[in-house]
Amino acid sequence: MSDILILNGRVVDPASGIDAERDVLLRHGRVAAVEMPGELRAVRGKEIIDAKGMIVAPGLVDVHVHLREPGQTYKESIKTGTEAAAAGGFTSVVAMPNTVPVNDSVSGLEWMLDAARGACVKLFAMPAATFGSLGEEITDYHELARAGAVGFTDDGKPILHDRVMRTALVAAAGIGVPISQHAEDTRLTGGCSMNAGPVAFRLGLRGMTVEAESKIVERDIRLLRDIERHDGLRPHLHVQHVSTAKAMEAIRQAKREGLHVTCEVAPHHFTLTDEAIGDYDTNAKMNPPLRNDADRQAMIAGLLDGTVDCIATDHAPHALFEKEQEFERAPNGITGLETALGLALRVLHQGNGMSISRVIELMSAQPAGILSLAGRGTLSVDSFADVVVFDPAAEWSFDVAKTRSKSRNTPFDGAPMLGRVSYTLSEGRVVFKS
Ligand SMILES: [Zn+2]
Repeated sequence: MSDILILNGRVVDPASGIDAERDVLLRHGRVAAVEMPGELRAVRGKEIIDAKGMIVAPGLVDVHVHLREPGQTYKESIKTGTEAAAAGGFTSVVAMPNTVPVNDSVSGLEWMLDAARGACVKLFAMPAATFGSLGEEITDYHELARAGAVGFTDDGKPILHDRVMRTALVAAAGIGVPISQHAEDTRLTGGCSMNAGPVAFRLGLRGMTVEAESKIVERDIRLLRDIERHDGLRPHLHVQHVSTAKAMEAIRQAKREGLHVTCEVAPHHFTLTDEAIGDYDTNAKMNPPLRNDADRQAMIAGLLDGTVDCIATDHAPHALFEKEQEFERAPNGITGLETALGLALRVLHQGNGMSISRVIELMSAQPAGILSLAGRGTLSVDSFADVVVFDPAAEWSFDVAKTRSKSRNTPFDGAPMLGRVSYTLSEGRVVFKS
């Protein structure tokens, strides 16, 4: 592997506090030097990437993706999913366990993380928090953590029972990893296919209330408080894809109280509302559902005031025939890896004044920190040579026909984006070039 020198770019590395013109040298898959322009001119035998006019940032980290392998590779595979990640500027992704079969064993986890699966960026995984994600009995956290688990989740389903969730939080606290909760009280959402409100009423669909989300978040926060007081442990709850103002406020209060709770928001929840469903467009069907504009604004407020710890895509590919069904029957989820940066820059930076550095932090250093992914999410010397080079001024529109994902399920076909990825490097290898 030859050395790579990235010249003339604006290096934005929030973890190191750098936002200035710098040259970056990558060697043996690591960041070897970040120096003032011109200082690295003498390095020999190097490949050069000219980043003039570009931002050079740590490769993005996504703590929430569905790669559908094993069992559903007609939707996506580890290879195609990570290719889509690379195209979107991501260099680390965390695969959710709702594969077929559910990833709830050491052998399953090792199989997924095996290089033979063809991941072109760094693949991490969160195995199931309970066997079969049935919410009854927790999996073997110690063995799974030793095999590489970075957290545990039954994503797609909540851990409903208080006793099971308590056991899970205590067990994960002993290892120092989070329980990631899909916050949905499924006892309140049976037969629901979108957000409750006037749009659902007009379409004649059953809607999910905001309480179905906030009740689980509030219950989990009570458990955190109780465990801290009575067990002397400090469990870490990570709330996945927050979508309601009510749940956001509960998280804000829990943070004020000092509890160890983190959360993520998906780009679609700060960009769209349930109006995007229009006339039963299944490409706007996901779970949690698109909410109303007050909830969307609350996601932006949470991102701006630091309540939200990171942006995560919840990349959820499906085949065309699955989405081409009646709205109520179609599966939940949209693809998101290739549109996340472009939406974040357009909506948060251009639309709401968030600095580019902060957008990058929410998509690299912060998600890496939540899961303690050492050497990721930063360009500090000796960290992995995971880099995204993008043009922050490029305005473009997403063309789903050009996606690297196997799937086409996105409500953002033709949508305006800001900031276009030119290069993505994973551990010093170019894995995407526009
Ligand atoms: Zn989920």
